Amino acid sequence: MRRHSESYLAMKSILVTGGAGFLGSHLCDRLIERGDEVICVDNFFTGRKQNIAHLLEHPRFELIRHDIVHPLFVEADQIYNLACPASPEAYQFNPIKTIKTSSVGTVNVLGIAKRCRARLLHASTSEVYGDPSVHPQREDYWGNVNPIGPRSCYDEGKRIAESLCVNYHLAHGMEVRLIRIFNTYGPRMDPNDGRVISNFITQALRGEPLTVYGDGRQTRSFCYVDDLIEGMIRLMDQDLEIGPVNIGNPVENTMLELAQQVLIATGSRSEITHKDLPADDPKQRCPDISKAKLLLDWSPQVDLATGLKRAVEYYRALLAGDVEN
Ligand code: NAD
Ligand code: UDP
Repeated sequence: MRRHSESYLAMKSILVTGGAGFLGSHLCDRLIERGDEVICVDNFFTGRKQNIAHLLEHPRFELIRHDIVHPLFVEADQIYNLACPASPEAYQFNPIKTIKTSSVGTVNVLGIAKRCRARLLHASTSEVYGDPSVHPQREDYWGNVNPIGPRSCYDEGKRIAESLCVNYHLAHGMEVRLIRIFNTYGPRMDPNDGRVISNFITQALRGEPLTVYGDGRQTRSFCYVDDLIEGMIRLMDQDLEIGPVNIGNPVENTMLELAQQVLIATGSRSEITHKDLPADDPKQRCPDISKAKLLLDWSPQVDLATGLKRAVEYYRALLAGDVEN
């Protein structure tokens, strides 16, 4: 008979869908560091092998190239469902595929969780609040989403995924956790995916104008990736609450303020230029994180200036060719 050490028995097998993406790759790192076994599933639509290259030879890490829109049979004790493009440019590239990933894909991943009796954490988003008329956003606000607008493939997809998780919980007693993630940034966010921080930093480093959409007075609240991953793992590992729980940094900035902060962090003399505001771009967004503070004893530790400095270092190395893209 095989004898297992205590650390082997304590080790969890954890499935991370979207594990080669920006957030997923940081999550894989943390879980491997903690001693768990990680199965990373990704179709590489927006993810990059480079994000997980350092893990490929690790004995507790396994990569499966797979699209969650198709069923998958693997064993896991916990599942983090992160698969879904997150940048507006990426999720609007093939809107029907985005809807399928959040709907059919989430059903498939819930199916794995049901069969394995695994706890599943689903990565939802502040976008379920749409263009919010309540500010800051608490979890009990139902949102203001245009169901037929250009962002609806993502927003409504994430809303149906929340509904699926809650109904699997009610119908089958499954353990689910819903995290509503607010804008998060840091190393490994794809420099070409069109999100504001990766755009501004790479533009500043190249000496190109920073493209502010609209008048730049719309707001977002930016959370550094390490803080976000800490909140995500705390939510998964507590036994009391299925969520949803907002995880984000409640310090709110206009896009013009952000552009100024990026110019300071990069030391760039780039100009600021204005482009058209995309349709249905939310005017304001800021999380109320009282629930995360109370339930998870969580609050962000990295301020924007510090986080931007770390992100700038990463993009500087990437543009210099020291980090592979
Ligand atoms: P990302 O685009 O870097 O990562 C998404 C990953 O999912 C990529 O690796 C992509 O290839 C993979 N993927 C997409 N569709 C798939 C499919 N059908 N099958 C398998 N893999 C698929 O984005 P991210 O910023 O890391 O976001 C991760 C998750 O967190 C997403 O679900 C996103 O909606 C959510 N989220 C992120 C933010 C943020 O600010 N980063 C905010 C709110 C919510
Ligand atoms: N934005 C901008 N310039 C860019 C990219 C985005 O001014 O080059 C704005 C965008 O209009 C939005 C905000 O920055 O108001 C955040 O955009 P992002 O795509 O990062 O995320 P989301 O809109 O999903 O919050």
